[in-house]
Amino acid sequence: MNFERRDIILIVGLVFFMLGLSPFVGIAVATIIVIVMYFGIKFYVANRKKAIEKDVGEGICAECGSSILDKKCPNCDSVGE
Ligand SMILES: [Zn+2]
Repeated sequence: MNFERRDIILIVGLVFFMLGLSPFVGIAVATIIVIVMYFGIKFYVANRKKAIEKDVGEGICAECGSSILDKKCPNCDSVGE
């Protein structure tokens, strides 16, 4: 599991969520909910990243971000070259 800046933002957000939730459900339950959410999000992001990598295959266009087919972008292969 690599640590990115996005993770820090996610953790900060979840800590605030935990603090907001703790008066209602208690700090222990709030902590468990936040930990489950954190791993849920990490798992979701990792899965989605893998799905995108599989989908992308040859890479993505730097202009529009769509997947490259036959070393050309289906949207803007007339532009550039
Ligand atoms: Zn393109």
